[in-house]
Amino acid sequence: MKTIIKNCRVFNSDKSVIYIDDGRFADEFSENEADEVIDAKGATVLPGLVDMHVHFREPGYEYKETIATGSAAAAKGGFTSVCTMPNTFPVCDNAAVVSGILKKAEQAGLVRVYPIGAAGKGLESEELAEIGLMKEAGIVAVSNDGKPIATSGFMRKVLEYSADFDIPVLNHEEDPTISGGAMNEGEVSTSIGIRGCPTAAEDIMIARDIILSEYLNIPVHICHVSTKGGLRMIREAKARGVKVTCETCPHYFTLTDSSCENYDTNFKMHPPLRSEEDRLAVIEAIKDGTVDCIVTDHAPHHQDDKEVEFSHALNGIVGLESSFALCYTYLVKPGIITMERLMDLMCYNPSSILKLGRGGMDKGDDADLTLMDLENEFVFEKDKMLTKGRNTPFDGWKLYGETMLTMMKGKKTYEKLC
Ligand SMILES: [Zn+2]
Repeated sequence: MKTIIKNCRVFNSDKSVIYIDDGRFADEFSENEADEVIDAKGATVLPGLVDMHVHFREPGYEYKETIATGSAAAAKGGFTSVCTMPNTFPVCDNAAVVSGILKKAEQAGLVRVYPIGAAGKGLESEELAEIGLMKEAGIVAVSNDGKPIATSGFMRKVLEYSADFDIPVLNHEEDPTISGGAMNEGEVSTSIGIRGCPTAAEDIMIARDIILSEYLNIPVHICHVSTKGGLRMIREAKARGVKVTCETCPHYFTLTDSSCENYDTNFKMHPPLRSEEDRLAVIEAIKDGTVDCIVTDHAPHHQDDKEVEFSHALNGIVGLESSFALCYTYLVKPGIITMERLMDLMCYNPSSILKLGRGGMDKGDDADLTLMDLENEFVFEKDKMLTKGRNTPFDGWKLYGETMLTMMKGKKTYEKLC
């Protein structure tokens, strides 16, 4: 199968045509030889995006999302690789579940799925999961995400044991002994009468993980950072050579806790939306290189889990289909960061932290790409999403950066119907 994409701009290149032969980027050939010629109409070809933090809910919670529906949402968002968190049912803490996820992902065939295994059996911080066997089955990292790795002693064990297998550790940072509220603890939570979760809950555990990483000289990756204090500590640790990396999400630089004022549960997630000061600190840390990756923390829920009182609603929002557009509109378009930096955040850095080997656009590399319209504004509509979840806070937002086409290994995985 030979494909030509013409009339495009190509990221990091002065080319305006892309040639794909048998699933790989190729040298020029004539249109007569091509099976398909796609007119990109001026849109921009980017390397396929990588999201190292998503929740696909299968096995166990298929009413919220399946690997097939999550994969379709990922492709629509321009992603060609995603890493799935292990808080499924049963928990992904053994090789059988890992193999099951990979099989379903292959059947769906819309995105490369890299499973993340649990660090502790059952996502508990008691007994190590079968990390070696899970690595053989295909995991790329361990995490108890959804829950923190609760104690320093267990975190040390996880770091040391995973290092033996060369498996990265990703931690959800939240000290359970002072956490527990339904939103950020601050002026807004006080004024609307919702119990808050302090930034200190996140900061304390980030501090702990930096200390352990430095003491053991083992890398640690900090999940979805939302606080000014956490980012300051990560910045300082990096400066003195600690092997710490981190991620944040689009909602932490586009929204604050004031959005919770009308008790809309589509603004409830964990870590919670923070103050304006934290939001600005996230932008600063994206700009100065402290943040390594932007992830979605895509967390689809059924309406029944969200259409309840704010305090009782489950945490999380969907994100795969809005992430690139939010990043482009709020970071690149206003000139806060360059497109090169955005591709580091959304493709090259996550690929390198987890050793996925993705992002290449040279001859012979797998043709994983997405075609983005960066010129025309579009309205993001929740009813057009391909995820099963409807829990987005971005319905009706006017954005730039709509996906026109996504290809994984030269195969179309999403195409906008014009
Ligand atoms: Zn988390």
